[in-house]
Formats: sequence, C-alpha cells, structure tokens
Amino acid sequence: MKAFFFDQDGILYDSMPKHARAWAEVMQAHGFDFTEEDGFMNEGRTGQDVIREAIMELENREATEDEIWEIYEEKSKAFKALGEVEPVEGVVDVLRFLKKNKKEIWVVTGSGQASLFDNLNTKIGPFFDRQRMITAFDVTHGKPDPEPYLKAWDKSKYPKKDCCVIENAPLGVRSAKAAGLFTIAVNTGPLADIALWNEGADLVFPNMSELLDWLKKEASSR
Ligand code: CA
Repeated sequence: MKAFFFDQDGILYDSMPKHARAWAEVMQAHGFDFTEEDGFMNEGRTGQDVIREAIMELENREATEDEIWEIYEEKSKAFKALGEVEPVEGVVDVLRFLKKNKKEIWVVTGSGQASLFDNLNTKIGPFFDRQRMITAFDVTHGKPDPEPYLKAWDKSKYPKKDCCVIENAPLGVRSAKAAGLFTIAVNTGPLADIALWNEGADLVFPNMSELLDWLKKEASSR
C-alpha cells in the first residue's frame, strides 16, 4: 500500500471525549435530549450534519441554517474551553514508520475546526501536508457518505488497492467501505468492536501499537 488515509479525531487526536462532552453540553443547553454517547454514535459526521440529524430525530423538523451555525459555533467554543488535545497514544510511532517507508499520509476528516487540522504539524509531528487533507470544507456530503474518502483517493492518483483507511468510528468505516477502500479500524473509543466489524471493517485493532505491529509484518512480508 502506498497511501494511508487517516481520520483525525480519535485517530490522530485523542479528542473524542472532549467532542462528545461539548456536544452534550451545548445540545442539552438548547433543550435537546442528547448524551455523550450520542456524541460518539455521531462521530465522523460534520458538525452541521450532527445538528441537522438531531433536530430531525428529536423534533421531527428541518433545522434552520441560522440555528445550525449558532449551535455549531457554541459547540466549537465549548470544545476549545475543555483544553488542549493530545495525540492518540502510539500514533506518532505509526506515522514515523510510514514516513520512513515513504508512504503518503493523508487526513480525511469531517472536522470544520481549523484550530485542529491547521496545527497537526505542531501538535502531532511533521507528517502532514495541507495538499493532502480533505476536511468538512472540501465536501458536499460528509461521512458516512463515501464522498470524503473518494475525494482523497481521486486526489491521490493511486489505484484503490494501494490505499488504506485508518478509522475509529462506525460511520467513518461505513464511509470508507462505501468508497471501496481497505479499512483498518483502531477502536480508541468506548463502543464495542462489533460496531466496527458490522460496518465492514477489514481489520479491527484495540490500539496503535497493534496496528504498528501489523504494518511492520506487512512490510517485511514483501
Ligand atoms: Ca474519528
């Protein structure tokens, strides 16, 4: 494999607990029955889609553009107020190994928070290139639609068999598999592995060090 498409939150940044908490806080302040677990279940969607889906499900109506932006801005503020985020344990070793082996590193995220994806090189390490990033601003349909991963694949110019997705969320796996890509799930969150297998993950690892072991084995078997 030549190109690795990394999801951001829960794979590069250990940010999901803070995202889930910020979502629950802000949605509850707006009167919605939305828990931290709902935050994890919606992981991968763009912020706008989380709000749109929640309002449809909880109030059976379309969200207005104004309320989407108002709630999303509050959520972004609440997230930042929860403090700095750290890299996921072990992910820097994975990135270093891939870089050393001349693999392309891409970021494919539903995030619209520039404070996160613009600072990957300072917060995680010198592995990233803005030309190899697909964010919430680059797509019409976010995950679980295949568009984000199809865009990354198309831009990469590699055949699909040379591309590999690293995801942690069920909806992210659904998006990657719908794009026809080999998908490794690293289960860094509180959901059971079965949620990832059920979406068609090709492999599921409990942490980054097992992913690294697998990558090393693959590299030496060629
Ligand atoms: Ca994720």
